[in-house]
Amino acid sequence: MKQLKKPYLFLSLIVICTFSTTAQSKNTNTIVKTELQWKLELTALQFYVLRKSGTENPFSSLLNKNYADGIYVCAACKTPLYASEYKYDSHSGWPAFDRAIKGNVSLDVDYKIGYARTELKCATCGGHLGHSFDDGPKETTGKRHCINGAALLFIPKKN
Ligand SMILES: [Zn+2]
Repeated sequence: MKQLKKPYLFLSLIVICTFSTTAQSKNTNTIVKTELQWKLELTALQFYVLRKSGTENPFSSLLNKNYADGIYVCAACKTPLYASEYKYDSHSGWPAFDRAIKGNVSLDVDYKIGYARTELKCATCGGHLGHSFDDGPKETTGKRHCINGAALLFIPKKN
């Protein structure tokens, strides 16, 4: 009788796998890749930040103090996320912007450190970018998009 249980276990595994695939296909991101595909395309730090919602060390990104004119795109899928005119120095150690390029950054809520924070994600590939806080410049939006430099690539404006 015990042997009979095995096919059932196998069947339930198939059901579980089917369910998780269905759940993923509901994702609104237009670029969906497997973890392995992302791992092959990204650097270790980019993968840790974008796909594992990691945080780079403060003051570690060269983009933190970059104030050249240009566009910041997603390091994973190259979607334009932030314009240089939205960037300001928050003195936090991470690149900060008072707003994103409309429609290209999506908001989510995470409880990773015990309380609710607004997580910012690339709307195209779902990559984790950073968090939004309400201590941004009051003269503009009041928002601070605290972004990991590793999640971004900078494309300087051509003169
Ligand atoms: Zn992206």
